[in-house]
Amino acid sequence: MTAHTSFFENVIRYVDQAAALTKYPKGLLDQIKQCNSVYSFKFPIRDSQGNIETIRAWRVEHSHHKLPTKGGIRYAPEVNEDEVMALAALMTYKCAIVDVPFGGAKGAIQFDPNKYPVDQVERITRRYTHELAKKNFIGPGVDVPAPDYGTGEREMAWIADTYMAMNPGQIDALACVTGKPLSQGGVRGRREATGRGVFYALREACNNAEDLKKLGLDRGIAGKRIVVQGLGNVGSHATKFCREEGDARIIAIAEREGAIMNPNGLIEADVIAYRKETGSILNFPGSTNIINTRDALELECDVLIPAALENQITAENANRIKARIVVEGANGPTTPEAEEILRKKGVLIIPDVYANAGGVTVSYFEWLKNLSHVRIGRMGKRYEQASELRMMRMIEVLTGKKFTEEQIAAAAIGPDELDFVNSGLEDTMVVSYQRLREIWKSNPQIPDLRAAAFYDAIGKIAISYLELGIFP
Ligand code: GLU
Repeated sequence: MTAHTSFFENVIRYVDQAAALTKYPKGLLDQIKQCNSVYSFKFPIRDSQGNIETIRAWRVEHSHHKLPTKGGIRYAPEVNEDEVMALAALMTYKCAIVDVPFGGAKGAIQFDPNKYPVDQVERITRRYTHELAKKNFIGPGVDVPAPDYGTGEREMAWIADTYMAMNPGQIDALACVTGKPLSQGGVRGRREATGRGVFYALREACNNAEDLKKLGLDRGIAGKRIVVQGLGNVGSHATKFCREEGDARIIAIAEREGAIMNPNGLIEADVIAYRKETGSILNFPGSTNIINTRDALELECDVLIPAALENQITAENANRIKARIVVEGANGPTTPEAEEILRKKGVLIIPDVYANAGGVTVSYFEWLKNLSHVRIGRMGKRYEQASELRMMRMIEVLTGKKFTEEQIAAAAIGPDELDFVNSGLEDTMVVSYQRLREIWKSNPQIPDLRAAAFYDAIGKIAISYLELGIFP
């Protein structure tokens, strides 16, 4: 196949490679691969001058083996049906890998939100929601959107509000969308979740001394030289946690207008502030400019985090990639041809379907919060704090020594919502990595972590179909 294969075909290729190692019937595997529902629609909007424009939009539900289906909504001028289908499919596998009980879905509106006034973006978002609701493509038990490229908390609040207005009195209506602002039923930690998950994924990989030795690297994330592509929600938080909690060094950042490099390390928050002020990351004080932004992917480094869009590492540039580890913050950044080249070079790829699953994992927690109508940890915080205090008092009795008030205040705190969310996310990422690595290392036919991830996902989805009794 050539570099012209579509994004959805690329996903199918990854699935086929892993499916070939299973014994499931062909019909069942076909059912798993295809998109169950592809809703493509158009609607008109009127601008402030009274001109009418037709907007194209999609919602694709890839798999209904578990309900609701789940996945973000993308706003981009170049988005197309193939891309939405590919992204919806990736959501199915992603959810299965991290044991989040949803089928996969994705939505998109073909427009550039930066070129429209905010009130127009709001009208487009509300109309889109209305169209989804009319066809039963949104609802807490049906299909639950979330943010993706070009959307965020603001859009999710509009979606929730529109849905609730159309479903008065529906007690679980807030669970129709995740990634909402806190005041509108969001959960603490959702905004950072995908980036935090990328950090946990990388940290877990780096903790394996044997694997790191094979890559010619020392164990541990500390001191690793990282290049990141994309300073959006995923890239900015991934670098923040790798730097602050992992003690890694961000040596280059690539954005649309160009890239910057500083071997001594960059602080993403300063670069973001500078970009906001000047409109570009170029000429950031202390750094060297890289005019062709894609060249940054080829820099000498330990870890590359593509956290922008799909098809960034291709057969064309894969040979020149010098990173030893690629952690896919974006969906589909590496083509199958590029992956083969990187594998031959001994590069460890931590695949998107696992590495960026932190977002949907915490979306799941938000959905649970909305359905339970109570802040996570609300009922246990004081109780746990009291238990911690009792334990400290017991230690005092046994040792005859006294804790200071500061020590007690620091240790007997009781977990709050953010503690629970981050702990659930960390556990999900750690446990999933260990399972994928085990599948990879224990099966000689499985060449890498991506194949292990798809193998894991296909098995779980197949069992779920078989247990539904659809294929007796
Ligand atoms: N758009 C994100 C993703 O690609 C999040 C999806 C969600 O939270 O449902 O994983």
